[in-house]
Amino acid sequence: MRPTLTWEPTGEGVPASTDPAAVVEAVEAGGVVVLSGAGLSTESGIPDYRGEQGSLRRGHLPMTYQEFTGEEQARQRYWARSQLGWRAMTRARPNAGHRAVAALADAGLVTGVITQNVDGLQQAAGARDVIELHGSLDRVTCLTCGNLSDRADLDRRLREANPGFEDTAERHRAARVNPDGDVDLPEDAVRTFRVVPCAVCRTGVLKPDVVFFGENVPPGRVAACRLLVDTAATLLVLGSSLTVMSGLRFVRQAAQAGTPVVIVNQGPTRGDRWARHRVELPLGEVMSAVVDRVRP
Ligand SMILES: [Zn+2]
Repeated sequence: MRPTLTWEPTGEGVPASTDPAAVVEAVEAGGVVVLSGAGLSTESGIPDYRGEQGSLRRGHLPMTYQEFTGEEQARQRYWARSQLGWRAMTRARPNAGHRAVAALADAGLVTGVITQNVDGLQQAAGARDVIELHGSLDRVTCLTCGNLSDRADLDRRLREANPGFEDTAERHRAARVNPDGDVDLPEDAVRTFRVVPCAVCRTGVLKPDVVFFGENVPPGRVAACRLLVDTAATLLVLGSSLTVMSGLRFVRQAAQAGTPVVIVNQGPTRGDRWARHRVELPLGEVMSAVVDRVRP
């Protein structure tokens, strides 16, 4: 069974507004914990999953944990496509939304950031202590010995193991990257790709240090997020449809504790019924306006 990838809006919950006042008010009061999703990175050129230009609408089907760990061919396809996607990802730069969150954290108004994104852009904008709920494409883990290593090291090893692949990469430079660092690549290019094992134990299967669809977020990481949400004066959701439970559960937690939930997202979200406000405006625009308004 495939994990939940889509969800049908029920029309329940708060109607959308185009007035950022609720966001300004929440941020001015301080104690804001941010939960961000793929919508925050679309202005950096990384499409989201479910928005207007979302990758799922283009037929992109993210690989599941079960496929990745169960099939050698699936891993070959993953790493071949990732080899192109990861480089496109490293060219992406933080946008106004990322910079605004970092500025508000610096000002002490945002007290914690949980991101569902694996692109590292929030940290690149200068935010510290970001909890990467779904991990990071920057790191690779060994499923056998547990060693963590840099994706950049693996990039070098994969390039050495696949000398001709550079040309393929060049031909597909324009391929659209997906939010999980995947790109579309013809099967014949995939089938010749050589995957390398762990450099430490020499045999272990390498996996990007990201949480796949169908995989659970490590319990310790969930607990850290729960503690953070417990301390929040407001939970501010930025650019997430909250389709998957890994993020939605924190919205429920906040609402059950009586903590206001404010959502900024293009389109309805699965968390709307627990939200006090939902603002439907481009994130860079809203968050830059918020920074201008709260700055003394
Ligand atoms: Zn290993």
